Amino acid sequence: MRGRMMSKPLTITEIMAFADRHHGNSEIVSITADEGLHRATYRDVFARAARVAAVLESMGFNEGDRIATLAWNDHRHLELYYGVSCSGRVLHTVNPRLFGEQLVYIINHAEDRALFFDPMFLPLVEGLADRLPTVEQFVALCGRAAMPDSKLPRLECYETLLDNATANVDWPALDEQSASALCYTSGTTGHPKGVLYSHRSTVLHAYASALPDVMQLSKRDVVLPVVPMFHVNAWGTPYSGPLTGAKLVLPGPKMADGETLHSLIDGEGVTIALGVPTVWLALLEHLRTTGKTVPSLDRTLVGGAACPLSIMREFEERHGVTTRHGWGMTETSPLGSVNVPVEDPSSLNEREHDEQRVKQGRALFGVDFKIVDDANRELPWDGKAFGDLKIRGYWVCDGYFKAGDGAVLDADGWFSTGDVATIDASGFMKITDRTKDVIKSGGEWISSIELENLAIGHPDVAEAAVIGVDHPKWTERPLLIVVPTDSSTIDKAALLDWFKGKVADWWIPDDVVTVATIPHTATGKISKLTLREQFKEYRFPT
Ligand code: AMP
Repeated sequence: MRGRMMSKPLTITEIMAFADRHHGNSEIVSITADEGLHRATYRDVFARAARVAAVLESMGFNEGDRIATLAWNDHRHLELYYGVSCSGRVLHTVNPRLFGEQLVYIINHAEDRALFFDPMFLPLVEGLADRLPTVEQFVALCGRAAMPDSKLPRLECYETLLDNATANVDWPALDEQSASALCYTSGTTGHPKGVLYSHRSTVLHAYASALPDVMQLSKRDVVLPVVPMFHVNAWGTPYSGPLTGAKLVLPGPKMADGETLHSLIDGEGVTIALGVPTVWLALLEHLRTTGKTVPSLDRTLVGGAACPLSIMREFEERHGVTTRHGWGMTETSPLGSVNVPVEDPSSLNEREHDEQRVKQGRALFGVDFKIVDDANRELPWDGKAFGDLKIRGYWVCDGYFKAGDGAVLDADGWFSTGDVATIDASGFMKITDRTKDVIKSGGEWISSIELENLAIGHPDVAEAAVIGVDHPKWTERPLLIVVPTDSSTIDKAALLDWFKGKVADWWIPDDVVTVATIPHTATGKISKLTLREQFKEYRFPT
């Protein structure tokens, strides 16, 4: 027997329609390159999103077409979030920090038909444009006065397009399973892989992220996503903000600038800020050196990489700010778990409190996880047994974009995260290692395999391995470990120079260590686990 309840599709359009009617006056404050601190309301932004949809229509883009952005967090990017997705097109948020070759691959693989970019990325776009045959239209995200001089073909000015567009759009009735956004994540081997979010997965993720034991969002909150809108949709805040009516504060290109972050937090009354550990170092250092405080800030959600205890302590002890440590992946939209204590922390001694808060937290409703051994047998939740972390749920991907039927789920429908974890009796998950061969520096992936392949190409190198080693600022940085060829000695500087121009500068290892042999597993692969153990005490030269 069917229930007698209305059936309404879970679409981002519904979030927009609701926020427009019920939270229309909530504010969106952004830092922009051409307009300084820009203030708007949700109502303004949605009205402009309608114009974005009209522009896309007039350019001949169809439902399902990918529209790319190379942009920071600001109101224009938010307008594209809604204008593109709610008109049935797919918003492809491209990470400008990637190396040129990767950008070319990603944009061609996505077959993006238009690229909207912040003018500061113009040199990057000009350098790539010849190799982007699918891109029919370039749009600079600025007003006429800030339009850069460029020979880029088919370049339009965003504000002029919007000024000339009709304000009336009939938003299409979308199937909730239709694609809304696309975000590429680094592959362990091979090319980046596209994670294609749906309207339904996005709405459910936004709902869940507002819950008390997750972000605890309400209309009274002021949310500062310091995580970029090109990284897993800024952890869903462009949707959970409007869903709850919270005010949004968008820092534009000033993501890692402590002074700007402080002035936004203090000036706008930010109550919750979100980002990877690295960005908080900049803020905390600024507060330490200036003696400034952040009285409005109640909590931070820190994730994307393990949050060091020192950050949590400094936030709590000096500023009375609670850190919620979260875990997730591009493939999981991203929220999988958040650490909010289930018992009063004052009932724990300091060591217990510290051990507890560095865990990655409990699953939120909508996802489920488990740990398994090599034979895929589930391991106990005793806080000791560790195994591969698997996850499934409403906002977990079941395959990559244009990857055919390439199965990413096991026979029981679980997604393998490539992380190794323990889970304790209260359901708190703790990441202990990673089986995937990648390094995460400042929240961004570096492929160790790509670096190893390049190192092997150097005439003095017989064998090479790259591992991530703890770093106080970037969480992890790559260390290159090499076995020299018989006749050679390694010149560190020359070897590191070898990578220049072949990968992004920030991918280049921080140091080189020469060894006689590199350990291998039984199947002949480099044993990264052994190497990580061997170099546990290693510290980069300062
Ligand atoms: P991404 O797809 O870029 O969001 O990266 C996801 C990966 O980042 C996870 O699979 C983990 O390896 C790592 N990660 C994310 N959050 C955390 C965390 N809180 N602690 C440790 N590693 C994390």
